[in-house]
Amino acid sequence: MFREPAVADTQIRLLLQPEHRGQQARYLKATKVALSGYGRVLGPYPYPTLTVVDPPWGAMGAGGMEYPTFITAGTHRMAPASAQSPEGVTIHEFGHQYFYGLLASNEFEEPWLDEGFNEYMEDRVVGAAYGSNRPVLTAFGFRFPIGVAVHRPLDTNRRYFQVATEDVLASPAWKFRTRTSYGANVYSKTALAMATLERLLGTPTMNRALRLYADRWRFRHPTTADWIAAVRDATGRDYRWFFDRTFYSSGAVDYAVVDAKSEKVEPPKGLFESEGGLVEKPPAELAKGKGWKSVATVARLGDVAMPIEIVLKFDGNHTYRSTWDGEARWKRFRVDRGPRLLEAVVDPDEKILLDVDRTNNGRLVRADPRAASRWTARAVFWMQNLIDSLTIAW
Ligand SMILES: [Zn+2]
Repeated sequence: MFREPAVADTQIRLLLQPEHRGQQARYLKATKVALSGYGRVLGPYPYPTLTVVDPPWGAMGAGGMEYPTFITAGTHRMAPASAQSPEGVTIHEFGHQYFYGLLASNEFEEPWLDEGFNEYMEDRVVGAAYGSNRPVLTAFGFRFPIGVAVHRPLDTNRRYFQVATEDVLASPAWKFRTRTSYGANVYSKTALAMATLERLLGTPTMNRALRLYADRWRFRHPTTADWIAAVRDATGRDYRWFFDRTFYSSGAVDYAVVDAKSEKVEPPKGLFESEGGLVEKPPAELAKGKGWKSVATVARLGDVAMPIEIVLKFDGNHTYRSTWDGEARWKRFRVDRGPRLLEAVVDPDEKILLDVDRTNNGRLVRADPRAASRWTARAVFWMQNLIDSLTIAW
């Protein structure tokens, strides 16, 4: 039984393969995490039962599927807890009780309303309960944990960045150029767009919008327009511009610091008046240059504009934070006599998760080889594309 007032009062039935008996507690915990995590945001799970099926080895084709009150998950014999499987797939499939079950949107014409919204909520619920994922590499029939943390939702949705401009997200399922683009847009771009919206609105406001949408359309058939209306009504502002630039666009977001310099202010040169005549030496009060002259330029490299924050970090722990509507192609920040500029960073808090290239988001004024190698290591890991987590969730 799982009981949480105003969230669920549900008998959980787990049909587990005998060889996976050791994972019974993990399956049950994940199911409860899902009931609670989704129910608190989207309203109570309305049914008295929920059945979770663990398919046998060799029958993974039956895993990771959703039906009202009945889901199939899946796991491996070797499943380190850090890999978050079977947790991720169990929570994802449960999420479909809401996104397509209670909120019965059209899965073919608007697939992002079920798979994309569910991916977004899965990242939230799994991330809050379990933290970062450490994926497993499968090689020569063995499964090894890799020592790299996978952060939700940014890292779990990286497949979007490879095909960012291939299709308009809001396309019917049969109109995508490739299956890869379908998955990357419908699941991952939607999840990143929703998470970006959450960071622009704040989580409590985002939750109000989600709850309004879920309450209004429970046991009915919502469309994208109904979601946009729920955001408007929950915030009192029209966010159509956001959806035009994300859901209804194939354009990419990419902001970059393209230039960051800091030079010592030199004493002025030339002829100076002194005691009625002209001399080449500047007067004492100007002879010593004061401070540093710093310039940083942030550019919009992508077609899509988003409101963005910029941080300039100066010597002596001074920080200057600015916001920019992001509409123009570039914006320049200049300080004439200040402390030495050390670093400029655009989107320092990782709010605009749709930014397709984060490696250009920061620039050090003095080359710091440690920072460069940190980024290189991360980039190489993602290029190798080794993770197999979440591949069974559909
Ligand atoms: Zn799914």
